[in-house]
Amino acid sequence: MFLEKYSMGIGDRFAKEGKAQLKALIKAREAGIDVVPVWNKSYREHKATGTSPESVRIEADEAVKALGWDGSYYVDADHIGINNVDMFIDSSDFFTIDVADYIGQKAQDDEIRAFVDKCTKYAGKLEIPGLDNSFNITKDDIKDIAERFLLAVKKAGEIYRHIENTRGKDSFITEVSMDETENPQTPVEMFFILAAISFENIPVQNIAPKFTGRFNKGVDYVGDTDQFALEFESDLAVIAMAVKEFGLYENLKLSIHSGSDKFSIYGNINRLIKKYNAGLHLKTAGTTWLEELIGLALAGGEGLELAKNIYKKALDRYDELCAPYAAVINIDPDTLPSLETIEKWSGEEYANALRHDQECPEYNLSFRQLLHIAYKVAADMGEVYINALDKFSYVVGENVTENIYQRHLIRVFG
Ligand SMILES: [Zn+2]
Repeated sequence: MFLEKYSMGIGDRFAKEGKAQLKALIKAREAGIDVVPVWNKSYREHKATGTSPESVRIEADEAVKALGWDGSYYVDADHIGINNVDMFIDSSDFFTIDVADYIGQKAQDDEIRAFVDKCTKYAGKLEIPGLDNSFNITKDDIKDIAERFLLAVKKAGEIYRHIENTRGKDSFITEVSMDETENPQTPVEMFFILAAISFENIPVQNIAPKFTGRFNKGVDYVGDTDQFALEFESDLAVIAMAVKEFGLYENLKLSIHSGSDKFSIYGNINRLIKKYNAGLHLKTAGTTWLEELIGLALAGGEGLELAKNIYKKALDRYDELCAPYAAVINIDPDTLPSLETIEKWSGEEYANALRHDQECPEYNLSFRQLLHIAYKVAADMGEVYINALDKFSYVVGENVTENIYQRHLIRVFG
């Protein structure tokens, strides 16, 4: 099973927008942009919304059938570890193995020694085709990288083999993610991580590093965009070389997590994947849930009331909602609209504050981030929220489709 060159992770908190999401990919295909859909949901999200992995499979199959999509599509067990992988095995055919927690923990001495011995030939001047600068690498550098990353890769190998033993070889896509850690991986680290992945016999097709800068939830990139471009280009060059050097799959590509709404780096990403003829996986999740709120607000009446209610409850539960996302949000409480303000808002005003249109003077970055992490509030409303999505699906769906098509697919892959 080989993942296509361009793919997009389209997470959907409440499993109601599969068709609206797929419509965006169909529109892209009609415009000559071939991207395959991957419905992703993590254990964390399932826990927060009270859903099971099977619900994602049902949603994906139904959307594909209803719209007659004849291309590939996948269901991604996102950010799984050894403790929760089993519940995903039947319904997923794409596994994002998260081993970030093991970064910095040491493998056994003999394992580190064996790795360093195998890689000693790369000590000295390492030239990566396509990059102007070469890297000077010592045996100690390799040992240092092994001490920080080898155990994580070995754990990924264990999880991979566990899935393979149950599902069978070549029946799923493997992604390895290291994005949820403190420091970005350098291109040299990436090179040796890929070496370790190859020695561990993991048939990796996607690798998700941590990039420089902040990838806050649902809002634009924060950081030095030139530095990002440099790092992204280096990673593309390193992957191309590692594929040849270590015999990894030809279609190995970068996966960008929290990839939605990073408009200020999409231009560079687009330019560089074309320059290197490289593939890309763009993983998103919460951007669709925000479009649901926009749709409900624009529907007016009880839809708007519900959207306002969710914001009010989110304000009440501010600390609880922010705590698990502290590292990936940056909310300025002083700029959040007050209860009195929101009470007076029309559907348009609510939508304008929330929609990710940086040109719009009413766009409110903090409002958007708070609502992004407030999906638990809607989940706690149960049927009330789900029924509203059904009732107002005509306006919700349009917003979901347009957001993925106009603001994501065209800009990143077009
Ligand atoms: Zn991630």
